[in-house]
Amino acid sequence: MSNKVVILGAGISGLSCAYFLKKKGFDVCILEKEKTVGGVIQTYTEKGYICENGPNTVILGKPELRSLIADLGLTEQMIFPSAAAKNRYILRHKKLLKIPSKPNDFFSTRSLSIFGKIRILFEPFIAPLPNGADQTVAEFTTRRFGKEVYKNFINPFVAGIYAGDAATLSTRYGFKLLYELEQTHKSIIKGFLAIAKERKEKKQTQSIFSFPEGMRQLTISLEKELKNNIYCHSTVSAITYSENEYCISYTQNGEEKNIKTQKVISTIPAYALAESIQTLCLITSEKLKQLEYVPIVSLHLGYKKEQVKNTARGFGVLAPAHENTPLLGILFNSRIFKHVAPEGKELFTLMIGGARLPLLTKLPDEDLLRLATSEFEKIMNVKGSPDFIHFARWKKAIPQYTMEYGEINAAIENFEQTHQGFYIAGSCTHGISVPDCVENAWLTAQKILI
Ligand SMILES: Cc1cc2nc3c(=O)[nH]c(=O)nc-3n(C[C@H](O)[C@H](O)[C@H](O)COP(=O)(O)OP(=O)(O)OC[C@H]3O[C@@H](n4cnc5c(N)ncnc54)[C@H](O)[C@@H]3O)c2cc1C
Repeated sequence: MSNKVVILGAGISGLSCAYFLKKKGFDVCILEKEKTVGGVIQTYTEKGYICENGPNTVILGKPELRSLIADLGLTEQMIFPSAAAKNRYILRHKKLLKIPSKPNDFFSTRSLSIFGKIRILFEPFIAPLPNGADQTVAEFTTRRFGKEVYKNFINPFVAGIYAGDAATLSTRYGFKLLYELEQTHKSIIKGFLAIAKERKEKKQTQSIFSFPEGMRQLTISLEKELKNNIYCHSTVSAITYSENEYCISYTQNGEEKNIKTQKVISTIPAYALAESIQTLCLITSEKLKQLEYVPIVSLHLGYKKEQVKNTARGFGVLAPAHENTPLLGILFNSRIFKHVAPEGKELFTLMIGGARLPLLTKLPDEDLLRLATSEFEKIMNVKGSPDFIHFARWKKAIPQYTMEYGEINAAIENFEQTHQGFYIAGSCTHGISVPDCVENAWLTAQKILI
């Protein structure tokens, strides 16, 4: 059997999958629609500011990401945040309120009433739902911790991770750890305490990180290792199967081409794969189309330090839906990674849109800037205009693992079983975070290796 593998998409999923397979001697070929690699990992630099248009907060915890970074010789270059990064805030009446970072802090926080605090104490005694039933994240966390914890902490947290709506996302698929802790420990609190104990015993640490040139350093390093294997400007349009082979049709710089292979790994978004496999499997195609992607705008703003009067140190602030603000949250980029702003300046990223306010992402730059900066200025007590502005617009940013995701997942699994040699990875399966994507890429590569 041929050792050729065609990989669709050169985001972190496609690149890492190709890297793992190339190291094992496979002949990999990556087809990428855009002129550059990295997918949503895109770092933009201007005037000494280093802006992450996509992921800012990548956690170094999963072993696959750790060893990928080590293998690429990037470990020494990693930059870890200042201790202040552990301070995270939620917005309350347009002011920053520190999120409790230790269990005991929940009892002194001003964001919960006495009743809300007492309600947390009942969590360990609440039985899991029978038969492992799934619930939305809103239902699940309200059932376990009460309404106040949901409204003030979980709702903004979900907006921060998925730009999503906790009232529609599935706990089982979108927040697997919470779901599993309920099943295994019968309590989220007990489960987290057990995890913390285990990490302490094994001296395992988890931290976010960056690189001197931003997150793109990861994808650029992968690109260097794979430079003869990547075909940019190559848009996959259709995949068919005949005589024991998949035939992938794609357009490269306007020219129609095709490539035949017995092994395909798709890491392109679900909606793009759905279009390509219409003839191969209409049922899976239709299911994949149901996976919704929400739009996001990341608005980067640079200011002179003295302009920003609120000097709260920390990672950033997330906004609960009931605060009625146009912002999902604000990242205090240069307060945790000094290198991302020039001397004497500060960089902030405002996250806008998501499932909560998708229409805002359609506003023209000028209107959105006015709306977002006026809110930002109130929250952070800012005087004067920014000296740097950069918009990153994502029309289809993050897939939403809603309550229907179980059926989509089943369709993906069924497709893989009935289409030998065709694998579906990427952020549309097994998690959206960068570490999840790398882990999934590694697991997919293992399926090819056996
Ligand atoms: C704004 C934003 C902020 C985020 N923040 C974080 C964060 O802080 N921490 C974190 O861990 N995660 C974060 N994420 C999520 C994470 O970055 C992504 O889920 C992950 O990078 C997805 O990688 P991927 O390779 O699976 O998909 P993508 O990066 O989407 O790559 C898919 C690739 O396929 C290509 N493609 C599409 N159609 C075709 C076609 N027809 N033919 C060929 N190629 C095609 C695309 O051009 C793209 O390069 C964020 C995502 C966004 C959008």
